[in-house]
Amino acid sequence: MSPIQEAPVARSQSRSCPLCSGKAEVLFAATDENHHVSQIPYTYLKCRGCNGIFLENPPVDLGRYYRSDYYAIPSFEQLQKVADKDHNKIDTVRRFVTEGRLLEVGPAFGVFAWQAKQVGFVVDVIEMDARCCAYLQGTLGVNVTQSGDPQEAIKALPPHDVIAIWHVLEHLADPYAFLSSAAANLKPGGILVIAMPNPDAWQFKVMGRHWPHLDAPRHLFLIPEVTMTRLAAQVGLKKLFLTSDDSDAKSWNRFGWQRLLMNRFSSKFMQRVMFVLGYGISLFFAALDRQGFNGSAYTIIFRKNEP
Ligand SMILES: [Zn+2]
Repeated sequence: MSPIQEAPVARSQSRSCPLCSGKAEVLFAATDENHHVSQIPYTYLKCRGCNGIFLENPPVDLGRYYRSDYYAIPSFEQLQKVADKDHNKIDTVRRFVTEGRLLEVGPAFGVFAWQAKQVGFVVDVIEMDARCCAYLQGTLGVNVTQSGDPQEAIKALPPHDVIAIWHVLEHLADPYAFLSSAAANLKPGGILVIAMPNPDAWQFKVMGRHWPHLDAPRHLFLIPEVTMTRLAAQVGLKKLFLTSDDSDAKSWNRFGWQRLLMNRFSSKFMQRVMFVLGYGISLFFAALDRQGFNGSAYTIIFRKNEP
């Protein structure tokens, strides 16, 4: 039997949902299959009210799960190359706002922040990793706030026309508090852009607790789009745009298949084989991954109402 099957399943039978206070029940226990920092099983609960999924007891030593090789810092030339390759994120933002002050939360080494600066935005970032902060400030010349608590850090910043948070909200201890702080900071008419794993994804139904986008225990929440829209409305934000089939989602669909297979092997050779096989499988299942709202990740944009 695998360590996952031997794992204790739950510490409690029910708990109230941090998003809606509804009753939440055990969904499954999952281990860190993506990075193997530990074999400890982590219990995820699912809310009966809003279908939100959350980690029952986030590890007290969560920082340990973000190893220093989580981000490999590129040279400026490498970063520019990546930035030139895919403009989907910045193009999506510019459909709604084309100038002004933009904040990115959790930029890592800043591909999107750099694209935003190149098209003329004044760019602020909130990032927790010290090496990334040095690179963002020194090499990219954007305004850096170093913090692992963005909903607090944002309160000290000037108002923004755009706040973007790409695949970071699911890592935060209190996503609603972040939404609330972001809404308070936005200028009237400003937009909040969120991308995150999609718990309505077809891959999640097929792969369950082995779905790489669960990323236990780093992902503390998986929030369905419907719930996100309702939470945003509570803080005065109105949905403008939604997709689970942009180039971002498509790359995460591919990643889901590749990583699922790679996670089954420890040898580098077999991981390379599975990387190629996973790519092939992702092409085979692309029609299903791209149907309806099946994509592995979604991007959603909200606008703050004019007064
Ligand atoms: Zn709930």
